[in-house]
Formats: sequence, structure tokens, C-alpha cells
Amino acid sequence: MDTRTDYSGQQTSCFCAKYQPLELSREQIAERIKETRSIQRRLDLKCKSTKGHHLFQCRLCKQLWQLSSAWNWGGQDYLFKVPDIEIPEWMESPYMSPADMMIYSASMKIYFEKNRLSDSNNLCKIENCVQNALLNNVLCKVHFIESLQKFGLLPQPPAGRLFDPYTLSI
Ligand SMILES: [Zn+2]
Ligand SMILES: [Zn+2]
Repeated sequence: MDTRTDYSGQQTSCFCAKYQPLELSREQIAERIKETRSIQRRLDLKCKSTKGHHLFQCRLCKQLWQLSSAWNWGGQDYLFKVPDIEIPEWMESPYMSPADMMIYSASMKIYFEKNRLSDSNNLCKIENCVQNALLNNVLCKVHFIESLQKFGLLPQPPAGRLFDPYTLSI
């Protein structure tokens, strides 16, 4: 571990830089769950959200970390780095949990593997939408997926604030 101590015996460098953004894979999330306790020891708790997320900060470099539950891993907690944010903003909407993003993307991927969607030459019937409707459908891909989500036929996108480097594709 790259941790130096200065003459007063205080830590002068931290471990934050050695952690990359979590890849959305089962292995990486399981690995991070294991590391979480030792990461957390070096962080200060900033606040807790009503939704059960915790915001932590590194004492040395001030990097923010969020602690969330990984529901598909038995609800175990894990920490991941998040961008700077004001506390009230974070309280209103904590960051999206990468474990939730992973599960969401996986179920969408399965859906698209089973259902090959191609465009027709007609416009989507939703007002002001400029996309073409899907073949044998009146809706474009985005609006069709949204309607399946609304009726519970596909999972809803995870709650929370999306952040770099993640994107949520449907
Ligand atoms: Zn740090
Ligand atoms: Zn549309």
C-alpha cells in the first residue's frame, strides 16, 4: 500500500487513487463488497440519506465515496467513489448504485437478445417524437421500452443520480 507518514506520524497520502470506477460486472462488485470494510475505516461519514445510502469522505484527499446496498448480493454494502456534490443535493438524490445499473443493464440485454427490434418507415405516434416507429409497432424503441417499463414488463431504470463514467442505455 502506498501510504507514507510524515515526521509527525500522520498519514500524508491516501489510497483513493488506486481505486478505479467500478466496472459493471458481478466479479468487480463482489470484490468491492469484500474490500469495503477496510476502505471505510479511512473515511469519515458525512451524512445518511433517507433511502439508506451513506456519503463518506476521505480524510486526506477529500474524495467522496457512497455506501449503498447491493441488493442482488444479499443486500451487502459496498463503497464506490462519487463526484463532488453539495450535501442538500445529494440528500435529494443520491448517486445511482453501480450494482443496480449492472442488474438493470443485464435484464435489458436479455430482453434485446430475445427481441430483435427494427425500425419501420413510419414516425412514432408520440407527439413531437422524431424517431421512427418500430416494425409492427406504433412506437419508437425509446417509447416502446418506456411503455413496457410503465406496465412492469421490464425493470424500471434504477433510482438516483447518474454519474461519470456511467451511461444507462436502454
Ligand atoms: Zn483519499
Ligand atoms: Zn417515440
